[in-house]
Amino acid sequence: MGTAADEFTLYDLRVEVVEGRGKMICNHQLGDYFELRGEDLSLPPGQTFPLYPLAALLPLLPAKQRRTHPNDWMTTDTDIACPDPHCGAIFRITRIGETRFHHADVTAVPLPSASSASSASSEPPTSSDDKR
Ligand SMILES: [Zn+2]
Repeated sequence: MGTAADEFTLYDLRVEVVEGRGKMICNHQLGDYFELRGEDLSLPPGQTFPLYPLAALLPLLPAKQRRTHPNDWMTTDTDIACPDPHCGAIFRITRIGETRFHHADVTAVPLPSASSASSASSEPPTSSDDKR
């Protein structure tokens, strides 16, 4: 069970088929979408999403879930082309909200404790014995 001290937030994402550059070949329609909250991907009831564009989108999603520098292209660029060269679909990744998580709820790896973190950044010894 997490505490306030181990909170962090991730963006919730929506990936939607938006107007493309020509005919759509794959089994996706304009307006089809999926959403991602944390590690959980969800589709509207009855809607499917083809495997190959999903595979192209997957590497980008963890970065889009996290805060990125305002100048980073990962912040500004939202549209991803379908990997089928004959398909005109464009997928738009939108940050639709934020979800708060607790470190302890999502990993078995402990956070470094406050005491070990301060000892890791220990200050240099004082110069009382600095005799030359
Ligand atoms: Zn496609």
